[in-house]
Amino acid sequence: MKSYPYPPFPSQPQSTPGSQQAMDPYPDCGEQTYKGSGRLQGKIALVTGGDSGIGRAVAIAFAREGADVAVAYLDEHEDAQETARWVELAGRQCLLLPGDLSQKRQCRELVTRTVEHFGHIDVLVNNAAYQMTHESLEDISDEEWVRTFDINITAIFRICQAAVPHMPSGSSIINTSSINSDAPKPTLLPYATTKGAIANFTAGLAQLLGPKGIRVNSVAPGPIWTPLIVSTMPPEEVKHFGQQTPLGRPGQPVEVAPLYVLLASDESSYVSGSRYGVTGGKPIL
Ligand code: NAD
Ligand code: MG
Repeated sequence: MKSYPYPPFPSQPQSTPGSQQAMDPYPDCGEQTYKGSGRLQGKIALVTGGDSGIGRAVAIAFAREGADVAVAYLDEHEDAQETARWVELAGRQCLLLPGDLSQKRQCRELVTRTVEHFGHIDVLVNNAAYQMTHESLEDISDEEWVRTFDINITAIFRICQAAVPHMPSGSSIINTSSINSDAPKPTLLPYATTKGAIANFTAGLAQLLGPKGIRVNSVAPGPIWTPLIVSTMPPEEVKHFGQQTPLGRPGQPVEVAPLYVLLASDESSYVSGSRYGVTGGKPIL
């Protein structure tokens, strides 16, 4: 069994959206370890936030399972190119799609470009998100609230609406929620609220899309070591990140990816409308 890093972690403040290249320890996205076995052979996947963190681990795992991957991200070009390098080393195609998902046009554009390039979409992973720490209610500006909702939940609605006409029966949508969806951290109020909305949206959409043969599930990670953390949390929280979990450490992105592979694959053909935790032992009920 491979061992993963435990806190304390070095101080490493970054501005949002953060760079994976600059992190210490470097997040493990399965670059050296993930082994595929053809579980997504020939599928086409679109992964938002696929440049870094959980999204990169998902992109690498999907490619090694035989999928071509379109990767959407904000503007972290170096991180995105590193993801593309690993996808291509796995012998699959990677289409990079930078742009701001708070913009309605970008949500549609992303789907159009993926379909122009690959023809259709079998797996849609809505994983991009924004968060920021606010110590008090007064600290949260109206613009911040609206932008968090635009990126984290409205974009998911828009991307799903644009993508579904291009998703054949048997396709899978996977939305990244969070342990915050039912255990909200008060200093992440806008973010946690969107994560509750994602879990609820997922359960509703699964019922709407069932007759089309499209499955929809959400994943609720606990603390995972990614750029999102070092670019939005206070240094003291970063230092002890993940220590409060029963496993005593944060998860690495590679430890989350296998669940996305399962939910994307035909093996989970009767799994829809559910939420799955990857929390290092913190209960989600
Ligand atoms: P990450 O920073 O590696 O990934 C988030 C990505 O979202 C970024 O790479 C960025 O390109 C993208 N993004 C942000 N704003 C955007 C915008 N306006 N337009 C387009 N793309 C934008 O961090 P991560 O932790 O891997 O996050 C992936 C998902 O996991 C998120 O939904 C996050 O909420 C969720 N999550 C993370 C944790 C954790 O502890 N890291 C815990 C629970 C849930
Ligand atoms: Mg990133």
